[in-house]
Amino acid sequence: MNQNPSHFIQLDPAYMRQLFHSGNRKEFLAAVQLALRQILVKLNVENHYDQAIAQTKREGSYRELNNTWEKLKPAARGQKWQELMERLVQITYATRPYCLRCGECCRLGSPSLHPEDADLLVQGLISTRQLYTLRRGEPVRFNIEGRLGLLPAELIKIKHDPNNHHCMFYSENQKNCSIYEHRPLQCRVQECWNSEELERLWRQEKLTRRDLLQDDQESLELLDLHDERCEPEKIDAAFTQLHESGDLKVLAQVLDILRQDKAIRGFVKQKLNREDEELDFLLGRPLVEIVRVYGVRVEKDEDGVYHLVPDR
Ligand code: SF4
Repeated sequence: MNQNPSHFIQLDPAYMRQLFHSGNRKEFLAAVQLALRQILVKLNVENHYDQAIAQTKREGSYRELNNTWEKLKPAARGQKWQELMERLVQITYATRPYCLRCGECCRLGSPSLHPEDADLLVQGLISTRQLYTLRRGEPVRFNIEGRLGLLPAELIKIKHDPNNHHCMFYSENQKNCSIYEHRPLQCRVQECWNSEELERLWRQEKLTRRDLLQDDQESLELLDLHDERCEPEKIDAAFTQLHESGDLKVLAQVLDILRQDKAIRGFVKQKLNREDEELDFLLGRPLVEIVRVYGVRVEKDEDGVYHLVPDR
């Protein structure tokens, strides 16, 4: 669930500056109502305004701010305003504790798979071409905890649109999921007004490539080889070392891992007769994409030699 107020509220920055500087209470009340209406629109429940504003007026943080607005300094008004907006988002979600099938979850990203989802692949309802793997040690953003870190164990996810992160099964035109009756477990438990179920599921076992490939010895051996030679953690360790020591020699190690990743991908494609689309599942995302998280990209010079250069 995305509860960042800026995802819901788009108020003009000049209007906000004037609001915080003037300290006028009537303007504050009007701005709260405007922000609340924007959140309601975003959640497709414009008709819940009366319920949401009544709950807001009962809210302690709102009452306190309403009473002290004129006495606060502009910076304190800005900070308290932000806290109140977070609360308004929660209040608005609480007015709709049921799924409207609005597609918001599907637009924010795609689900990870769990052992209960393995049958979707066995029955051919989802294919490995539609999946990608985030391998252990990849740098990722943990949405629930709101922090960046290295993934402790691999995840298999449904692919998403690279431009807007919409799940590939979500149709913006029809506002629906093309596999709704057979959607993965995460989609079935997810409640955008309550993150408890999602948090519980996040702590549970995930589906892995080895679960799905257990009878395919040839693929498993290549997967082990790739994991051993092209561990994302080695790349993270190299960039940590670069950061701490400034020693540019570690970039040669990173380039060597990237070369091995490219070579193994080519080999797997040929030897196992796999299409490009399947490699993101079998071997995870290409490491040339992952290094961009560290602010670099690979560039080939006129002699055909590869370098890591700052990614501007
Ligand atoms: S699989 Fe369906 S329900 Fe799940 S995120 Fe994708 S579009 Fe939404």
